[in-house]
Amino acid sequence: MPARLLLVEDDPAIARTVIYTLEREGLQVSHSLLLGDARAQLVATRFDALILDVGLPDGNGLELLRELRQHPQHQSTPVLVLSAHGEEIDRVLGLELGADDYVAKPFSPRELAARVKGLLRRAAPIPPASAPQPDGRGPFHDDAVGQRMRFNGQPLALTRREYRLLSTLLAGAGRIHSRDHLLTAAWGDDSESTDRTIDTHIKTLRAKLRAVDASCDYISTHRGMGYSLEVPKG
Ligand code: CA
Repeated sequence: MPARLLLVEDDPAIARTVIYTLEREGLQVSHSLLLGDARAQLVATRFDALILDVGLPDGNGLELLRELRQHPQHQSTPVLVLSAHGEEIDRVLGLELGADDYVAKPFSPRELAARVKGLLRRAAPIPPASAPQPDGRGPFHDDAVGQRMRFNGQPLALTRREYRLLSTLLAGAGRIHSRDHLLTAAWGDDSESTDRTIDTHIKTLRAKLRAVDASCDYISTHRGMGYSLEVPKG
């Protein structure tokens, strides 16, 4: 089955080029000119990834990204954000809202195709043969196959990156992880994310853990060094 993408882009010339390039790579592309239409398509169809323009006639593409990240069915769908001006604010906001990648216009269609394929590759489930078994550590239960985490028996609603971040901290529980290390582990090498992205995601993770256990302070900040996760014994 070819991967299915949704492109949300109001510029017909850009959309044509992107669709042509991606279809040549064997991907299936649906197209929306408007946010309203994209929302309707997302209800009807399951997409493997989204390419989302920021400036759209009926709103800001980042609004849709925010909605997706709060939606159980779409919160881990990979999203690549396109921005018209290469504006820093779109990039930072996009990544903080949970975009997986970011491309500034004008872009080369081939580069976009490579980034999209990278997203799909990273989102692909780990093959069962090499997949680690679900791992229980204290109150955490990491299901690496399903990329899900339970905390105190309750499933956590995590984005893909939050999951990877928590899973990395958990795998090296008690050790200090530098922001660089966490970026590489959770975002991959080709990301343009910054240390601040890690800080923002740690903040969200802490809030999600506290929503389950109000007294939880398992994630520690080590000034100038990074973060660690302390797992209580038993
Ligand atoms: Ca636009």
